[in-house]
Amino acid sequence: MAEYKAPLRDMSFVLNEVFDAENFWASLPGLEGVVDPETANAVLEEAAKLIEQEIAPLNRESDEQGSQWNDGEVTAPHGFKEAYQAFCEGGWNGLGGNPEYGGMGMPKTLTGQVEEMLQAGSMSFGLAPMLTAGACLSINAHGSDELKEKYLPNMYSGVWSGAMDLTEPHAGTDLGIIRTKATENGDGSYNITGTKIFITWGEHDMAENIIHLVLAKLPDAPAGPKGISLFLVPKFMVNNDGSLGERNSMGCGSIEKKMGIKGSATCVMNFDEAKGWLVGEVNQGLACMFTMMNYERLVVGIQALGAADMSYQNAVEYARDRLQSRSPEGKKYPEKAADPIIVHPDVRRMLLAMRAQTEGARAFSTYVAKWLDITKFSDNAEDKAAASGMVALLTPVAKAFVSDKALETTVIGQQIFGGHGFIREWGQEQLVRDVRITQIYEGANGIQAMDLMGRKVVANGGKDLETFTAEVQAFIDANSDDAALAEFIRPLQAEINNLKDVTAQVIEQAQSNPNAIGAAANDYLHLFGFTALAYMWAMMAKVALAKLDSGDEFYATKLKLARFFYQRQLSATQSLSANIKAGGDTLMDLAEELF
Ligand SMILES: Cc1cc2nc3c(=O)[nH]c(=O)nc-3n(C[C@H](O)[C@H](O)[C@H](O)COP(=O)(O)OP(=O)(O)OC[C@H]3O[C@@H](n4cnc5c(N)ncnc54)[C@H](O)[C@@H]3O)c2cc1C
Repeated sequence: MAEYKAPLRDMSFVLNEVFDAENFWASLPGLEGVVDPETANAVLEEAAKLIEQEIAPLNRESDEQGSQWNDGEVTAPHGFKEAYQAFCEGGWNGLGGNPEYGGMGMPKTLTGQVEEMLQAGSMSFGLAPMLTAGACLSINAHGSDELKEKYLPNMYSGVWSGAMDLTEPHAGTDLGIIRTKATENGDGSYNITGTKIFITWGEHDMAENIIHLVLAKLPDAPAGPKGISLFLVPKFMVNNDGSLGERNSMGCGSIEKKMGIKGSATCVMNFDEAKGWLVGEVNQGLACMFTMMNYERLVVGIQALGAADMSYQNAVEYARDRLQSRSPEGKKYPEKAADPIIVHPDVRRMLLAMRAQTEGARAFSTYVAKWLDITKFSDNAEDKAAASGMVALLTPVAKAFVSDKALETTVIGQQIFGGHGFIREWGQEQLVRDVRITQIYEGANGIQAMDLMGRKVVANGGKDLETFTAEVQAFIDANSDDAALAEFIRPLQAEINNLKDVTAQVIEQAQSNPNAIGAAANDYLHLFGFTALAYMWAMMAKVALAKLDSGDEFYATKLKLARFFYQRQLSATQSLSANIKAGGDTLMDLAEELF
C-alpha cells in the first residue's frame, strides 16, 4: 500500500491560484491579522507531516483491531490515544475555533484542507476531531456564556472531545419522532432519559471527558420536529473550578460491529436521568443542531474526498508496478516480461476518472468553504445573507454528490488492482468499506437530494440557484472571447442553460404532482454536481492555460485533466436530464404489494 502523501501542491493551486486566497482572506474583516498565504502554507506543511507520519500509518491496524468495548468502557485501537495526544498538542483540534475561548480562528478554506488530509490518513481517527469541532460550533453559536466558558477551551485543546447524539433505534431521518425525554430540575439543569444509537466516539479512552450534544423533548413540547431541544450532557460533571466531578448517569451499552470505519467506536448510549444543560432556546434544538450539521455535511464530503484521493494514490503506484500484457502500441518496456498496466487505455480511463473527480471535488469543497467563510467573517449583511443562501444550496451537493462519486472512485481504485484489490493486503478494499458510510450518515444521500431539490430550489423559487447560475454566467461572459478557453466555455454555457431548463421543468411538475421532487431529486443532485464541477474545471483550466509557458508540468497536466473531465465525464448530464424529464410516473405505477 502506498504511503499517504498530502496533495500540498494541488491544495496550494486551488487555494492560491484558483481562489486567490490572499485577497479573499484580506477582504474579510473578521480574518484581519489571522491568516495569510505564508501562515497557511506553514499550517498545511505541519499538518501534512503529522498526518503522514503519525496518523495514516495507524489506519490499517485500526481496521483490523477495531475499538473494543468492555463493561461500558471503550478502548480505541492501538496507537490512537498517543496520536490523539500529538494531534491535540499541536493545537489542531481548535484550528477553526473561536479565539475568545482558545481556538485559532482559521477560515474554513484552510481548515478544510487539513480535514481532507486527516480523513485521507484515517477516517476512523479523523471522526473524533471532526465531531468535536462540530459540537464546539453549536455550543459557540447557541450556548450561554457560562457553557462556552466552561466547555469550549477544553474542547478546543482536545482534552475533552465532543459527540453528537441524534439517532434513536426508531428515529434516524425523521428526528421529529424521537423519544428521549428532558425534565427541568429547577436549578437550570435538566434530566435526560433515553437511548441513542450509532453515536460516533460516544465513549472512548482518548480524551478525559466527552461532551455529548443530545436531542430530547420536554414533556409539554409540541409534536414533531418543532418540539425538539438540544442539551449538553457531559460524561463527567465539570466543577466550577473546571475540575472533573462525578460520572454522569449515562453509559455506553455496546458498540456496533460494522462494515467500515471499524477503528471508530459506534456506540449505543443510555441516558438515565443524566444531567444536562440547554443549548439555545427550548424547542429550537434542530435549528441549533443544524449549525453543526451544515459544517459536518461539508466535512463528510471532504472525508469522502480524502478516502478517494488515498485510493488514487495507491492505484497509480500499483499501475506503474504491475506488469501485465503489452501496450496496444507495441512493447513499451521490452526489457521487462510485460508492460506496466498504466500503458493500457482502459487502466488510464480508470485512473483519470479517479483523478478528475478527486481534484474537481477538492476545488468544489474549497469553493463551498469560501461561502462559509463569508457567512462567518464578512461584516456586510447583504454579502452574509447571499453567502448563507449559497451554503444552504451547495452543502447537500458537497456532501452527497462528492460522497457518491467518492464511492465510485474507490471502487475504481479497487478495480485497478484486479483480484489484489479484493483481498486485504493492499488496502483498497478497506477504503471502499470506509467511504461507504459517507453516503449514509449526516443525512442519507437520498435525503440530501430532496433537501436540495425541495427546500433549496423549489421552495424558494430557485432564488439561490440564480445566485449560483449568475456567477457562472458572469465567468462565461468574462471569458467568451478567449479562444483558448472556448473548449470549456461553450459546453459550460450549454450546461448552465440545461440546468436552468431542467430546474424550471421540475418546479412546474412539482405544482401538480406531490411525487415530482422525490422522483427527480437524486438525478437532479448529480446533474447539479456535474455542472458545478464543470465550473470548477473551467476555472482551473483558465489558470492552467495562463501558466502553460512556465514550463511547470503541473499546469499542462491540469489542462489535460480538464479536457478529460469535459470530454469523458460531463456527458453524464445528458442521461441525468433525460431521467428527470421522464418524470416519476414509472416510480409510482407499481402497486406496493407487487414489489
Ligand atoms: C457508522 C455510523 C455512524 C453514525 N454516527 C452517528 C452519530 O455520531 N450521531 C448520530 O446521531 N447518528 C449517527 N449515525 C446515524 C446516521 O446519521 C443515520 O443512520 C442516518 O441519518 C440514517 O438514518 P436511519 O439509519 O435511521 O435510516 P432511515 O431514516 O430509516 O432511512 C432508511 C432509508 O429510507 C430513506 N428515507 C427515509 N425517509 C425518507 C423520505 N422522507 N423520503 C425518501 N427517502 C427516505 C433514506 O434515505 C434511507 O435510504 C451513524 C450511523 C452509522 C451507521
